[in-house]
Formats: sequence, C-alpha cells, structure tokens
Amino acid sequence: MSQIKAVRGTRDLLPPETELWNHIEATARRVFARYAFGEIRTPIFEDTQLFARGVGEETDIVSKEMYTWEDRARAQSEKAQMLTLRPENTAGVVRAYIEYKLGDAGLLQKLYYIGPQFRRERPQKGRYRQFFQIGAEVIGPPSAGSESPLRDAEVLEMLATLLEELGITGWTLEMNSVGSAMDRPRYVQALREALVDVAPTLCIDCQRRAVTNPLRVLDCKVREDQEKIDALPKIADFLDEGSRAHFAQVCAALDACGVLYTINPRLVRGLDYYTRTTFEFTHSGLGAQNALLGGGRYDGLSEAIGGPKAPGIGFAMGADRLVLTLQALPSQAANDPGLADAYIAPLGEAQQAESLVLARELRRAGLRVELGDGSFRLKKSFEMGNKLARAIVLFGEDEARSGIVTVKNFQTGEQTKVPRNELSSVLRRD
Ligand code: ATP
Ligand code: MG
Repeated sequence: MSQIKAVRGTRDLLPPETELWNHIEATARRVFARYAFGEIRTPIFEDTQLFARGVGEETDIVSKEMYTWEDRARAQSEKAQMLTLRPENTAGVVRAYIEYKLGDAGLLQKLYYIGPQFRRERPQKGRYRQFFQIGAEVIGPPSAGSESPLRDAEVLEMLATLLEELGITGWTLEMNSVGSAMDRPRYVQALREALVDVAPTLCIDCQRRAVTNPLRVLDCKVREDQEKIDALPKIADFLDEGSRAHFAQVCAALDACGVLYTINPRLVRGLDYYTRTTFEFTHSGLGAQNALLGGGRYDGLSEAIGGPKAPGIGFAMGADRLVLTLQALPSQAANDPGLADAYIAPLGEAQQAESLVLARELRRAGLRVELGDGSFRLKKSFEMGNKLARAIVLFGEDEARSGIVTVKNFQTGEQTKVPRNELSSVLRRD
C-alpha cells in the first residue's frame, strides 16, 4: 500500500516544538489581556463572498490562493453555496461584529484570535498552505473613537511589548499611510497614468496588476523591478489634510513611548480595504519570508461587507514565523521540558496496578512521571528509565509491602531508599 503523507504545504507540529508554540500563544494571551482584549473564535470556513468582498477580488489571496468548494445544496431548488477555508481572519471578525451587532453598545470591540489560516501558496521556509496567525482587531462605531490615531499607536505599542516579552529583538517596524477612501482614487489614477509607460518593462505579474489593481505593483518583490517602482508617484503626496494629520499623530504617540519605526512609502499591503495606517514588522533572521506580522486600518471594511460604519485597525502575526525566529535563539532550549522527573518501574505483573496508584500520587503532586511496565526485566527498566527520566523508582514486591521505594538518580548516580510519602519532595527538581 502506498504511504499517505501530510498534504503539500501542511505539516505536523510535534513535541518539543509544540512547547514553543504554547509558550508563544500563552505570552500573546497574557499581553492581550493586559490591553483588555477578549478572544474571538470564528469558523474556519465561511461564505466565499465574505473574502471576495472583504479581502478584495483582485488580491492574490482571492484571485488565486483560496481553497474554495461548492457545498451540497440542501434542496434541489436551492443554489449550492460556495464555501472557502479562511485565508485570513479579519473578514471573519468583522462579519461577526456586524452579525451580532457588537457596535450597538457604543463601545470599541477589542478582539484577538489564534488559529489556522489557509492559502494555496508555493510552500517554502516560513510559507505554508496551512499556517497559523495570532491577530487582534479594534473596531467600533466612530462615536467610540474607533478612528482615533491613538488606537493605531496603542496597537503598535502593544506589538512592540509582545515581541519584547517573547524575547524577539532586532525587528523593524515599517509604517505608511495609504490615505482615506477619498485620497486613494486620486493616487491610483496617478499611478495608472505613470504605469502606462513603465508597466511594459516590469514583470509579468506587474503588467497584470497595472491594469487590475495598480496599488499591488508597489508590493512587487522582483529585484529588477525595484528601481522603476521606487520612481513611481508616492501616496504620501496625495494624502489630504485629515490623513496627514492622522498619520502624524500616530507617529507622535509612538515617539512619545519610544517605539522605533521607519516610514516605507511603498507599504500598501495585500488587503484592498486598508485605509490610512499600514504597517509591517520584519525580522532579518527570517530570510526571504521576512514579515513577522502585518496590519493596518480598515475604515471601510464593515460597510464593504454590508455592515454599519465601523472603522477599525488590526494585525495578524505569522505564528510559524515567530517560532522560526525563536528557534534561532539559543535561549529557547529552556522551553523543552526535557526529561521526566521520574520513571516508575513496576518490577512484576503483581505491582502493575499499585504502580499506577504511585504514578497518580506523584503526578497529583505536580511531577512529570513516566510509567514503565511490569513485564520489563530490570535491565530494560533501567535502559528505558535512563532515556526518559532523571531518576528511576523501583517498585517491586518488597517496596509495595514496606512502603519504602528504591530511587536511583541518574544524574548523580546515587541510589537511596525513600518512604513513599516523601517521594515527591525527593524527586522534585531543585
Ligand atoms: P507575505 O508578504 O509574507 O506573503 P502577507 O502580506 O501575505 O505576507 P498577511 O496576509 O498580512 O501577510 O498575513 C500576516 C502575517 O501572516 C504575515 O506577516 C506572515 O507572518 C504570516 N503569513 C502570511 N502568509 C503566510 C503563509 N503562507 N505561511 C506562513 N505565514 C504566513
Ligand atoms: Mg502573502
């Protein structure tokens, strides 16, 4: 029979790497809680239209990367619904915001999520078809202050804090303003005009983007195109007074708390509904896939998917890339729980049941315990114990009767007799 493997672009996360994942997620939850965010869990699949309208038909994600299928129609008369595995989570969060009328209380909604996303991209280091994002959104009616530049700065300051608590240093924050829904058409028009002459000399993707979605040209990664793209009109020259002032206030608040950033006039990002602030945190340790996270403001997204006016700002971090970054740091060995505190070796079939009781006692006392098997010979028990734990607890007939067990500490080589009720304190680390 041919072997069945994990699908291309997906992978299994195994221990001890999963310890690192748990550490990252726990750190994120702790930081989000301090900034008064609550968790949202949206479905993993949604109506395809949500992404078509929420992310944008012309984006790479929607035009070529989604996992979409036709659901079975419930009745013959009914049209089958198109469903899609979520390629990102902002659209789902905003859909839930609209569906549950979360803005009706007149407060900001501050929501975070942690979960898998799906995009049919070319798999490579730091880029997978099932990948994991940790993200957050601040969204609400304008009366709750959802448009305030203070919201942008607070989110960015939170991210700097989160990265610091994760132990990730050496990142760069790049920011830009892509203007309001009013500024954008004027800029896109100027870009279109400039591209008439330039586009034919650019890569094939850019030639297409120049027609379908000129902003996307700024995203191009092809080296030969860079100089020509840098020379195109800059969005900063098209911002109206409001957008300019908004961006200046975001920058001033970041300056006040000492969060460093650089301004990248080409940072437009892959979601059509981004407005005003856009940003990306990159890390040089990641190589080609150097973006740790990306985000921005999306003041028109709610309306684009049929909701009320609900400006918002959010980000998504690539958890896979956080893991890669942390794995490259020497300090991460600390996350590997390593050897168990004890290996309990029942020395015969008769001690099997009672050895489980002993293991239960120690585990309840908080120890990490491996349990052997009564059919193993003493030599095999020692071999197994040595591989799995820092100490072996011999549990034979005598030990069961007397309540005094034999403990050998593999690290010191010392062998001692220990009363069963003192065992947990003897085995406890340090
Ligand atoms: P990139 O430029 O790396 O493709 P993007 O602009 O498509 O990123 P977003 O859609 O904003 O990224 O997603 C936010 C973050 O999610 C990225 O910064 C990255 O860390 C992570 N990410 C995106 N796509 C993938 C993927 N296919 N595999 C792993 N991580 C990903
Ligand atoms: Mg991408």
